[in-house]
Amino acid sequence: MKIYHFALLFLIFFLGIVIKTDISIGELKALENENDEITKSLISATSDAVNYLTKTGSYGAESINKEEVLNTLFTSLYSSLGIISDPAAQAEIEMYIPVILLCDVDGYYVYYYDEYKAGDGNTYIERTWTEKIPYSYEDKYFIYRFTLTDMAYLYDKNNMLGIDESVVVSDYKELGISPLYSDFRANNRGCILFNDEEYELIKKTTIMNKLEDVMAYYTSRHNYMANRQGITYSFSFPTGKGEEWAEYIDDVNILVVFQGYPYGPDRNYTYNKIASAGANIIKKSSYYVEEKSWYYLAHRQGCEKIKDNDLVLEETFDTIEECIRLGAYTCECIEHGARVPELKLWERY
Ligand SMILES: [Zn+2]
Repeated sequence: MKIYHFALLFLIFFLGIVIKTDISIGELKALENENDEITKSLISATSDAVNYLTKTGSYGAESINKEEVLNTLFTSLYSSLGIISDPAAQAEIEMYIPVILLCDVDGYYVYYYDEYKAGDGNTYIERTWTEKIPYSYEDKYFIYRFTLTDMAYLYDKNNMLGIDESVVVSDYKELGISPLYSDFRANNRGCILFNDEEYELIKKTTIMNKLEDVMAYYTSRHNYMANRQGITYSFSFPTGKGEEWAEYIDDVNILVVFQGYPYGPDRNYTYNKIASAGANIIKKSSYYVEEKSWYYLAHRQGCEKIKDNDLVLEETFDTIEECIRLGAYTCECIEHGARVPELKLWERY
């Protein structure tokens, strides 16, 4: 870099500061209001889209109607931005949305811009969905395909479980209690399947990193294509917002990357946000309570003793502490806790 480059840079920064501080309080307020309006529109659009999923129950299975999700999202966005009957403005808005993620129970779909060369030799750009991409993770034991619930798909790549199937689909906690896996358990205590905290942490980090990578990748790809098409508005991937976009990733959710949107009186400010909304579908119920003759007994989800058991309370519990507050003793399926006292002691009195 030559010395006059530095001088130029200085001038640009200096001018920037002058312009920014020169703006009146009234103008700042107007900018803030416009910013809030866009945020509100985006949040209500993502909420409407995710509510569509909740209402129709179309998630988890292959029945998800992705086109209808988009339809709900864009209709809501256009109407709150006041452009419901302005196709040109709608097309422009869409250019600021390089990628949308639809995060389902067992994987996610990406809605992105794709470029292809047609038979006529021309290059075209169209929007399309990927297939469902799994939340996958690999360590020395297995290849895991996580889900937002406790269910997991395990690919037993080294036949460590010693069973015929190479793919096990199960509540992961089952591997910590089922007699079928007792040998594996005894020899591999370090496996994440036997440590709830570690399992949850790795699952969450895996999902978060994957989604973040995918958003960054498709956003920069979109910007590259836009650039080549001669579209030169200012794009930047919104980052460092305290990961507020990840608030709903333990539930079925939608992520909408909205970037480079020019606003303000001269449209020289840029709005960036990753808008998200969760469907409130996944309920984490890890513990069950069984009503025995004179006491309550708490069980982990997946314990053999609560299968087809009419004595299990309908209410489920997120933590063992809640069961203890109810006065419950703990079954052997829970590592630590108060066991039921021997009945003989009671008979004496
Ligand atoms: Zn139990």
